[in-house]
Amino acid sequence: MAFESLSDKLQNIFKNLKSKGRLTETDVKNALKEVKMALLEADVNFKVVKNFVNTVTERAVGTDVLNSLTPGQMVIKIVNEEMVSLMGSEKEELKLRPSNELTIIMMAGLQGAGKTTTAAKLAGKFAAKGRKPLLAACDVYRPAAIEQLKVNGEKLGIPVFSMGSSQKPVDIAKAAVEHAKKNGNNVLIIDTAGRLHIDESMMEELVEVKKNVDVYKTVLVVDAMTGQDAVNVATTFDERIGIDGVILTKLDGDTRGGAALSIRAVTSKPILFGGMGEKLSDLEEFYPDRMASRILGMGDILSLIEKAEASVDMDQAKDLEKRFKKADFGFDDYLVYMQQIKNMGGLADIMSMIPGMGSKMKDAPMPDEKSLGRIEGIIYSMTLEERANPNIINPSRKIRIAKGAGVDISEVNRLIKQFEQARKLMKQMPGMMKGGKKGMFGM
Ligand code: GDP
Repeated sequence: MAFESLSDKLQNIFKNLKSKGRLTETDVKNALKEVKMALLEADVNFKVVKNFVNTVTERAVGTDVLNSLTPGQMVIKIVNEEMVSLMGSEKEELKLRPSNELTIIMMAGLQGAGKTTTAAKLAGKFAAKGRKPLLAACDVYRPAAIEQLKVNGEKLGIPVFSMGSSQKPVDIAKAAVEHAKKNGNNVLIIDTAGRLHIDESMMEELVEVKKNVDVYKTVLVVDAMTGQDAVNVATTFDERIGIDGVILTKLDGDTRGGAALSIRAVTSKPILFGGMGEKLSDLEEFYPDRMASRILGMGDILSLIEKAEASVDMDQAKDLEKRFKKADFGFDDYLVYMQQIKNMGGLADIMSMIPGMGSKMKDAPMPDEKSLGRIEGIIYSMTLEERANPNIINPSRKIRIAKGAGVDISEVNRLIKQFEQARKLMKQMPGMMKGGKKGMFGM
């Protein structure tokens, strides 16, 4: 999972802090020294780390913090706030021109960064918002890139303009603009030619495209897993061609987080999106606050809500949430809950986004969605009264239920335990939602 190694280290440091009732200035300073080490090991730019730790220390050793009832929590809160501000505070949109005009976006980046894939992913996002994108295949140095763009365009139902690999990128780009205008496309995404390393002819090519084509936004694609190299690449591209924002790819495989945490602070360019996998749908808007929560193991409750919103039956969910709140959550509700979880695409992923669940959930005995059928069997062997009021399920009832479902009594026990855990979790939910406009299931 993204940022796992950094996240684990920080959570350990915080666990120590939280376990102490009172904190001295030395406690805080020592903890922040450890934070500093963890960030450096995560390949965060050293200047960024230095500023970050200085700011946090200054704020955290203030008397208000140390004298508060929960000094450990306060320190973590400050680390969180400063981390959000490192990554840009607010989410930045990749703004387009009005839809009656043509917006041209030039994609730049080194070979292998994920430029071609991301160009297609981005076009897919715009199409989903009702735009009419056109992709232009100008990566003439990697002939496979043209084919790759065509294949991806086809998957998404988005047209791809290409002229093979023997024309100059700037000429293809110019022709693509004409093609877009003729065909009523209002977004043109130009996939340019990368190189393995920073290279003068690549930069000249990009400058040439910008000179001849009315590029509205230049988006740099960098591989998050390359850490500080990604930051250096961004600095160089910005100096040479001027960039408007960055897309960080392969965040799904980035356990350290160095690029994500430094790129904005070093280049002052916003991170617009994060690539979270190889599939064309794996491109997420980059929310600094959610990213910080993920890194700090505070969960990503908002992403969870969005994920839930996208895949649950809203009426059922609303009803379920009402029941959670009333605490008359029974086995019938549990079954609906399990079905919802299955629709959301699995538990491990979802649970890791819930605050406080990140590391706990790794070994907690949560129901496995594959066993939904068996769970159904057990629940349907219960009487209606038992389902609505699980507290009455005594050992003799358990034996009867196990027999009815054709399972061992230990399975019934396990299910009851899992049910109780879910109920406890759900009771905590409303509190976790504080500050958010929406509830667990998007109410
Ligand atoms: P280009 O040379 O910059 O055009 O790079 P490609 O678009 O061909 O991508 C290089 C490789 O990275 C391909 O195998 C992509 O599937 C993969 N890739 C791109 N973005 C992501 C991402 O966000 N996560 C993961 N895991 N792989 C990615």
